Amino acid sequence: MDRQGILIIVSGFSGAGKGTIMKELTARCEQYALSVSATTRQPRPGEEEGREYFFRTREQFERMIADGELIEYACYVNNYYGTPRAWVEEQLEKGRDVILEIEIQGARKVKKQYPDAVLLFVMTKDIQTLMERLAERGTEAPEVIAERLRQAVAEAEGIEEYDYLIVNDDLNACVEQVHSIILSEHEKVIRNREKIARIRAELEELVKGE
Ligand code: 5GP
Repeated sequence: MDRQGILIIVSGFSGAGKGTIMKELTARCEQYALSVSATTRQPRPGEEEGREYFFRTREQFERMIADGELIEYACYVNNYYGTPRAWVEEQLEKGRDVILEIEIQGARKVKKQYPDAVLLFVMTKDIQTLMERLAERGTEAPEVIAERLRQAVAEAEGIEEYDYLIVNDDLNACVEQVHSIILSEHEKVIRNREKIARIRAELEELVKGE
């Protein structure tokens, strides 16, 4: 195959807008495949089974873990979240760039298994904006928001483990930025070994024939 898909891991503070950026990116460009995770958290108003998440009971989720169906899973604010393996691998094989929108513990586990993955960290330009967005969303109780902010403190500790920082000020600019980062990643020499080997072989053939 000519083009191997890239695994893209996107993390960021709750409310930073990573979901919106990734939805917009996948809507604009067919090359992207957004992975749908499984979770034990309750659906928010407007969320649909199989679109935002596969909503599962704790028992069902623990069965998925036992059966090895997940690439990784983590516990976040008292709920399980995990990435189904089969779909992700199938899409990568097809050459699509697969986006995993996951928190930092999961990101670390995926990076161990897929060392070529590209890690993006999304944040707002300041904490004031983050607080406003979390409050505007209005889907979480104040104590859940407080817990998500505590998680943000822990996630901020790990930002250096990521490859790129995305500051979400203007949605359109952010989507463009992520798209161009991924396009550049495809051009890296280490991702083009086959192409390089082919050109070398053709050159050698040519010189031999002279
Ligand atoms: P939310 O409840 O806001 O949809 O998600 C809470 C956090 O869980 C977010 O940081 C989100 O990126 C993360 N998350 C969603 N799916 C997964 C997953 O499959 N694995 C891990 N480790 N984190 C996930």
